[in-house]
Parts: sequence; structure tokens; C-alpha cells
Amino acid sequence: MAQNCIVCGIVEGRIPSKKVYEDDAVLAVLDVNGSTPGHCFVIPKTHYPIIEHVPDFDLGRMFVVSNKISSAIFQALNVHGTNIFVANGIPAGQTVAHFTINVIPRKENDGVNLLWQPKQLTEEEMSTVELKMKEGIDKAGVIEEPKQRSQSKAAGHSSEDPEEKNEYYIRQMTRIP
Ligand SMILES: [Zn+2]
Repeated sequence: MAQNCIVCGIVEGRIPSKKVYEDDAVLAVLDVNGSTPGHCFVIPKTHYPIIEHVPDFDLGRMFVVSNKISSAIFQALNVHGTNIFVANGIPAGQTVAHFTINVIPRKENDGVNLLWQPKQLTEEEMSTVELKMKEGIDKAGVIEEPKQRSQSKAAGHSSEDPEEKNEYYIRQMTRIP
């Protein structure tokens, strides 16, 4: 735990917070300066400054919890979407050196702006970036397969018809039953 870290203060209870979920490794709290009502952040109880420091197992756990928080937001707050968002590093908007996943409830015209202007790259620029990225991924180390895949319905959807598959994803995105 880092002494002067606000997020560690929340984990240790030195700073009051509205906890909506807690287990032995992860905590989810309401953001007092959130973008919309119900904006939560999911935090590891261990002090990891940025995502690169978080062990794979803990990171997996955090995204599982973020998914549950997102589902709870849909159920409880009657919203039409969520953004699950990480600001990694100061230029990306990270303000506290303790890794956090934001789960943001969204409605049409809610004034939250996470969009950007698309920039068209030339073929040459794309090829250069592709090459650099492949080298970078080699240096980042092996990406291990999960030990066991769960047989959940979503993961198990195996339609080979691209049109049907696309419709399935659109239904999921708009939550049409
Ligand atoms: Zn911390």
C-alpha cells in the first residue's frame, strides 16, 4: 500500500467511499466526481500504478468484476449502454497512480464525450505501424491461453453464418432479448 495514494486510502478505509462491491482482491466504488450517476471505478486492493504492473490473474478478475458492475448498472439504473474505460498513463488522462477501470452508465445525449475524430493513415503509415506493433508484441512476452474456457452461452455461440452472427452481436449490443 502506498501511503500518499488516494485509492489505497479508499481500500484501507482511511478515506470514506460508497462501496458497491468488495472481495478479497477487488473493490468497486461510486465515483464522487463521476461523469453520470452510477459511474463506478473498479480497483485492485494492491497498489499497481499502471496496467502493465497488474498480474494477469488479477487483471482478469478486475474485468470479470467490471462486467458484473456493468450488468448491475443495466439492471438497476435503466441505462442503454456502458463504457468500460481505462486511462493508462498521464497523457491518457490518468490522474492517480493506482490502476483503475471505470464503468460508466450511458444514455443517448448524456453529454459524456469519449469519441474522437478518425484519422485516415496512408498504406505506408499503416504498414510501418503494423511492423512496429508486431515487434512490440514480441517484446511484451507470451500471451498465455486461459487454463480452461468456460462454456457460457455467449462464448459458446457458434453460428457460421456471418449475417446471423452479426445480428447476434447487434442484439447483444442493444440488449434486445
Ligand atoms: Zn494505491
